[in-house]
Formats: sequence, C-alpha cells, structure tokens
Amino acid sequence: MRVALLGIVHESNTFAEGVTRLDQFRNGHWHFGEDIIAEYSHAYHEVGGMIEAMKEADIQLVPIMYAEATPGGTVCKDAFEHLMNEMFGELKRQLPVDGCLVVPHGAGVCEAYPDMDGHWLGRLREMVGKDVPIIGTIDPHANLSQAMIDATNALVAYKTNPHVDQRTVGKEAGMIMADTLLGRIKPVQLFASLPLAISIEQQLTEKNPCKELHDMAKDALSKENILSTSIVLGFPYADVKEMGSSVIVIADGDLAAGEAVLDKLTDHIFCNRSAFNGIKNNIKTIVSTWDQMPKPMLLLDMGDNVGGGSPGNSVYLFDQLENEAKENVFHCVFDPAAVQLANAHAIGDKFELNIGQRPDRVPTPTRLVTLAFKGPGSFDETTPRHGGQVHFDMGPIAIVKTEKNHVVMLTSLRVPPYSLRQLTSFGINPLDFDAIVAKGVNAPIAAYKDVCPSIVQVNTPGVTAADMTLFHYDNRRVPLYPFEEISASC
Ligand SMILES: [Zn+2]
Repeated sequence: MRVALLGIVHESNTFAEGVTRLDQFRNGHWHFGEDIIAEYSHAYHEVGGMIEAMKEADIQLVPIMYAEATPGGTVCKDAFEHLMNEMFGELKRQLPVDGCLVVPHGAGVCEAYPDMDGHWLGRLREMVGKDVPIIGTIDPHANLSQAMIDATNALVAYKTNPHVDQRTVGKEAGMIMADTLLGRIKPVQLFASLPLAISIEQQLTEKNPCKELHDMAKDALSKENILSTSIVLGFPYADVKEMGSSVIVIADGDLAAGEAVLDKLTDHIFCNRSAFNGIKNNIKTIVSTWDQMPKPMLLLDMGDNVGGGSPGNSVYLFDQLENEAKENVFHCVFDPAAVQLANAHAIGDKFELNIGQRPDRVPTPTRLVTLAFKGPGSFDETTPRHGGQVHFDMGPIAIVKTEKNHVVMLTSLRVPPYSLRQLTSFGINPLDFDAIVAKGVNAPIAAYKDVCPSIVQVNTPGVTAADMTLFHYDNRRVPLYPFEEISASC
C-alpha cells in the first residue's frame, strides 16, 4: 500500500500589512520527495510522526511536498496557485495512492480563497476520489471550516500550546490512517463550531481554563469507539467567517458516541466562555513589579507576535522600557536595513542606528550602539519546541548593544522566538539579562521557561494585540462572543 504525504502550512494574519509571497515559503521550509524524509524523520514535527507510523505499519510513504512560511499577511494568489500546481502536479505522477496524509495549518487565508486549507483539501478530494482516506493534522490555531471537514476523513489537532506534541499527533494521525487501510477501524468525523473566539492569552494548555478542557478531551478517549478528540482553539487575527473555536471528535463508526463527547466538550467551552477572555497586563504593571520579579523575566510582546503573523519589528516595548530606565534587556528585532547598516562597521565600532518601527506610528529614536557581532544567522534546534522545526535561518544578523545596556539582535529574515539556540548559538547567555523580550504569547514559553523564572504576557499594540475586540472585522460571524454577549443558559 502507498500513502501520499502533502502539506501547505500558513497561519495568515489578515490584519498584517502586505501579502505572503512565494519567496517567504522558499525562505521558510519547502521540501519535495525524499528531502521531506531527510528533514523531518528525526524532528519533533508531525511529519516525523507520520513517517514513523507508516514505517511501523509497513506502508510505503510517498512524500510529495511540504511547504511552510513564517506566519504573516494573507497569502497572495500567485504563491498559493504555484504551491498547489507543484504539489498536485507531483501527486498526479504518483497516482493511484491508497491514502493521503495531509498537513494543513487550518488558519491559511489566500487572497482568492479565504478558506485556503478548505480549498486545497477539497481539490485533493476531487483528485483522489471519495474512497481514498484523507487523514491529517491541524494546528489548534485553525479556524476550522466545513470544507476542511468535508474533504477529510479525520483531522487531529495538537493537544499542547506551546505545540510540543506535534510528532506524537502526527503519529496518531498516521496510526488512524494505517488502521483504516488495514480495515481495523471506520473513522467518522464530527465537528462543531462554537459561536465564540478564545483570547490568544488564555491558550496556554498547561494552565486553566485550557488545562481542564484538554483533560476532559483526553478522558473522553477512554470511552468506547472514540478514536480522537481535538480542541481547536482558533486564531482571532483572521477576518474570515470561520474565525472562532471548534471541537472535532473522531469515532469508530459510532455517530452517537461521537456526538455525546462532542456535546460535552462544546458545552464546557460555551458555559465557561468568560474564563477564556484575556487579562491584558500593561507596561505600568510590569514596571511597578520589576524589582520584585525573579530574573531574567520573559516579557512576551503580544502585539508583535511573529508566530501570529506580526512583523517582528516593533520597538514599542523597547522604547517603554528605556523610558522607564529599565536596563539589561535582550531584544530580537526584524530589520534588514539596520542589519545592512550595522554590518558596514567593524566589531567594537560605535555608531548611531535607527532600529525597528512602532505599530502606533510614533517615530523611533536614533540610538548610539556598539557592534558586538555580525554574520550569518542560522541555527539548529533538536529538542521538542513549538513548531517542531530543526533548521532556522535569520539571514545575515547583527548584534548591537545600546548605551542603556539593551542588547539587540537584528535579523534579515523573520524567525519566531521558538528556540533558545537563537541566543546561545551566537554567544548570548540568557541568564545575563534582567529581562528577555520575546515576540509571542505562549509559543516561546517552551523555549524559555527553564531559564526565565518569571513569565509575563504584555499587552502591546500591533496586528496581534491581545484584545481582539479592538480589530475591525467585515467577515466574522455575528453574534460571536466576546464581541457580542450571547444569552444562552447552561
Ligand atoms: Zn498554533
């Protein structure tokens, strides 16, 4: 038996300026055929888990294409069409296959197809026909659509945020595929979309309110005929009609059992909806507790969350901390122009540099800096971290130190802060700082929790700002909590 492996992964922030182009997939993670196996067989990524499951079941895996770009603006039409042409062209050469293992993200938005993942999964279904099982993983930040469910036999979401279980979940999907092909199970997929959106701030799965919910989903697996349960938290920064939270249950031929579990999980989320609202710590709170907090603190710059599609170039928090005379802080800022200017100097040179931008459009100050490092910015991560990737490339980088003891890593490519190796590979010791600014919300915690005894999510401006109700949506559903109150009894 032969099972094809296909993936197009993008988390699209429709509020971000500009579109995501093909070169952003090229600069990200884009592999064909056997290269996919070489890249991911040992990675803590769902593709690694799928490879392992197929090997164990003695089923031939036919790797077609896997493409992923750093989260960013809406995917441009040409880029998506090109990716589909490459992927489906290669699949056509490999047909017939007995099954398809798929890796969509679930929150992809293309200019031409607001439900990008529903679109490519639907095209895949047309190509292979209704009898070939299509089974895969999705990110719990998916805005799940009916089209994604209709095109697939089973989708399994990661159960952790930060996503450190991607390989395990990929293996789970692979095993559902193997058992289906071997006639051991008959998966039926049930899904319910809730009229609410969970704040990104409350999506840490090891803490309540998510912990209790994920424990319930796990407990349901002990019920007869329940193969898989997924809590799909949703991605608030996409102005699409599916934006919001949902639940998937995969049952073994038993619709009634699946429905009972689906109802229990959706009722729990709905009835506890106010607990899923954000807290929104502001800079004043952080400054007032600065001296008492164990160091180094991890300050999560929520408004400039690179993993949620923000540009990664905001110096809002940087300015605020300097204004409050807070010193000894590490920042990583995407600013290719500043890298170029800095790299024209020699190590140890002092010069003036303008760094980054402000999402609130306030002009940024010119800082006197000393160049501490310049060179290529690639590094590897070999432990389970959010995103499951091994190879990272920030392009050329420069590291500068300001007069107020802020150390700034300037990068030429946008790379989210998912790995401590982003610092340690360049001789930076995280323990040397009072605070480390990471442009994320929950995802960086997997990388930093062992070195940062204090973790604070900071409500900063930007296209991933904590309070989703401040954004203007044209396409979301109405009513949708917390935008509108929903009066229903529990
Ligand atoms: Zn995610």
